[in-house]
Amino acid sequence: MQHRPVPARICPSCDGFASASITLGGRDHSGQRRTITAHCRTCHGTGTVPPLRQLLEDAADTAFTR
Ligand SMILES: [Zn+2]
Repeated sequence: MQHRPVPARICPSCDGFASASITLGGRDHSGQRRTITAHCRTCHGTGTVPPLRQLLEDAADTAFTR
């Protein structure tokens, strides 16, 4: 067994599909489909979230530094 670094966790909100193009319908003046890109709010478009340990430490910092 090899020990490997803990990989970043896949974002539970989007399963790693952090951004999606949403077709608005119609086309613009150059003939392209008009789309907007939506990013996952949980991971801000990265598809991964920090390891749980980091989340806990961040939460502790937030809770106890006042
Ligand atoms: Zn996400």
